Amino acid sequence: METGYDALVGLFDLSLLRRLGLEDWLESTLGRCAEWFRASGATVFLEDSPGVFRLRCGVGRLDAVKKGTAIRNGEGIAGLVLQDGSPHIVEDPRHDPLFGHKIVSRRADVASSMIVPLIGPSGRRVGVMNLSRATGEPAFEDRDLKEAALVGAQVALAVENAEAMSKLEVSFREQQARAEQLKAVLDSVAGTVVVYQGPLGESELETFPNFVRDESERLVLEAEKTQERAEGKAHDSATDRTWLLVAVPLSQGGGVLTVQEVTQYQRAQDEAARMRRMAEIGQMSATIAHELRNPLTGIRGAAQLILADPSLAPEFAKMVNDEADKMSRLCDDFLDIAKPLRLMPKPCRLSESVERVVRIWRPKFLESGVTLVWTSRGQDPTIKVDVARVEQILHNLIKNALEASSLGGKVEVSAEGGRITVTDHGMGMDEQTRERLFAPFFTTKASGTGLGLCNVRRIVNAHGGTVTVTSELGKGSTFEINLRQDAA
Ligand code: ADP
Ligand code: MG
Repeated sequence: METGYDALVGLFDLSLLRRLGLEDWLESTLGRCAEWFRASGATVFLEDSPGVFRLRCGVGRLDAVKKGTAIRNGEGIAGLVLQDGSPHIVEDPRHDPLFGHKIVSRRADVASSMIVPLIGPSGRRVGVMNLSRATGEPAFEDRDLKEAALVGAQVALAVENAEAMSKLEVSFREQQARAEQLKAVLDSVAGTVVVYQGPLGESELETFPNFVRDESERLVLEAEKTQERAEGKAHDSATDRTWLLVAVPLSQGGGVLTVQEVTQYQRAQDEAARMRRMAEIGQMSATIAHELRNPLTGIRGAAQLILADPSLAPEFAKMVNDEADKMSRLCDDFLDIAKPLRLMPKPCRLSESVERVVRIWRPKFLESGVTLVWTSRGQDPTIKVDVARVEQILHNLIKNALEASSLGGKVEVSAEGGRITVTDHGMGMDEQTRERLFAPFFTTKASGTGLGLCNVRRIVNAHGGTVTVTSELGKGSTFEINLRQDAA
């Protein structure tokens, strides 16, 4: 048998720890230690919650020690050794100065035992080891004690290593699971995913047309600068293909770029928008043709009368003029609907717009015997809207309110912040009218075009606002417009 320090250290093959796991490694090591120290029984207790040590391994005679037996810091012989930090031989605990009167029980068949605290390199008490010799065996000596201290340090090292390894393994497994999840996410994205550090390399986007690469680079820069997700589309008008590009910055620098071809989706959307427009134009054309026929009939009639009697020309020329005006208004409305709305927002005060429109309508109201009341309530902040369009809204709502009122009626206009309300106490609307109000060409009036509210809604929508209507048949109506409060 080898002797000395080397032989003792040879008991511990830490390289086996990983393969065997802590339990099996302890079992085999403890067996060898028991043999080395000629002990008839050996146990190892390891900390499993702060200050509580539980039996984890035992070899030889352990009749009285049950699995799960716990030792608490400072309690019993082992508990006191843990506190003290150095190994002890216990001959007869009752006479040991370290333990004194605190020792209460001891096994009759154990003659001598050695209690070794397991202190890891970090200084943490990871557990306690107990080696015991049966009655009749020689007692442990000081030499044993020195060796036991070495043994304790090795076992503690193994325990701390095992703990560190299992922690590493857990975090490794977690990381692996996360990597797998991420891979699944990336696989499920129908497109190209580029994880970048710094500017985009040439190779990664090689298969894409130039302008897709240009747009990618722009988005990556933007995401870098704002530290926010940047999204853009690249469209090739030659082939009518469209790509959706999204750059998401990562907090540690670089980011992820996804490039996805959305040609089919984009085409379907464009097609749907085109169909809607066609349907609107078709409906509009029919109405226009119909609407143009009435004034045309008037004009032709006037022309025939003038032909028959040229002296009537001055009188009928006015009629021709009026009818032509009507046609011109119709064309204006038509163009409004047909053109896409392009807003030109400027900072302004709503009250000033209301003022202007109300001034224009005053004479018409006087003429019809309807009162027009305008109030500016509360704040009148500067907001950013397309002034001309907002005035168009006001014209339409005030015109409708006047048309719904009768002699002696009253129309109230008010503005506050980004909100405009127009209230009349006129005829009101039934449910059918309320439902179709905003549809193009819906009108209940003999000379209406049905385009006023359609335009109102288009303008409000373009401003990101809302229109609310409350109306009761025979009592009146209120139109409330809320424009988005973009501070100027
Ligand atoms: P038009 O005024 O040419 O009829 P609008 O789009 O402005 O077209 O209005 C559509 C329809 O909504 C009107 O014909 C009318 O029936 C109803 N309407 C609009 N405003 C009012 C109102 N203030 N009171 C009652 N009915 C209204
Ligand atoms: Mg109208």
